[in-house]
Amino acid sequence: MPINFRSWFAPSEAACPVCGRNAVNSSSAIPVRHPTPRRILSSLCASCLRSIPWIVHPLCRICGRMERCEDCVRRKARNYALSRCAVRYDNTMKDWLALYKYRGNEQLESVLAAVLAFAYERLTGTVTTGFQIITAVPIAPERMRDRGFNQAERLARRLAEWYGLDYETLLFRLRHTEKQSLKSRRSRVVDMRGNFAAESSGLFSTSVASTGILLIDDIYTTGSTLDECARVLRESFHMENRPDVYGLLWARS
Ligand SMILES: [Zn+2]
Ligand SMILES: [Zn+2]
Repeated sequence: MPINFRSWFAPSEAACPVCGRNAVNSSSAIPVRHPTPRRILSSLCASCLRSIPWIVHPLCRICGRMERCEDCVRRKARNYALSRCAVRYDNTMKDWLALYKYRGNEQLESVLAAVLAFAYERLTGTVTTGFQIITAVPIAPERMRDRGFNQAERLARRLAEWYGLDYETLLFRLRHTEKQSLKSRRSRVVDMRGNFAAESSGLFSTSVASTGILLIDDIYTTGSTLDECARVLRESFHMENRPDVYGLLWARS
């Protein structure tokens, strides 16, 4: 067995940022072009890298889902232009997100952001719209107090840094909704109304209508949160100046 001298001097570099096992990586299966997220993903061990359920061939042209999509068919009016998700929200992805949310680990954050970079590159390869402004779905103040950070904002800021976008805080959350999983689909759609408001920032007087706004969130379930945020965002602009809002989500449940 060959001795790995490198691991003696830099043991932390060789450890997979997700599972902590020794990472012997191959970058061949990484579907992201930007060198920084590529490098981050190549620091994963082969087993963790293989377990990422990339959404490579979306079937729904609207929300980027891998299967036929009832939600998008049912929704009569839509406030966002399109959305794309990087991965399916399977048990492994649930574990990764939970680990990140509750530990706030920076290494894990960069891995999650690198996964989201896949959706960004897919979206920008699909649409002709240019993007300059990126923002995130806000979390409620009480949740912010408990957790100390908004995971969607953290991921959005990483993308902003890598792809040269401007992160802007454009929305805030007015009240805390009950845990979504406890509600029926119907009541969830109704309840989103009134949850968000637009920040009154100087941005709204400037013209961003020529570019789209990217709106980041971690999980896409029914699209109601995304849709409501897009509505509030767009309505904060003058009618003739409304930019298109594009959703970019880490995982599709
Ligand atoms: Zn691993
Ligand atoms: Zn859909």
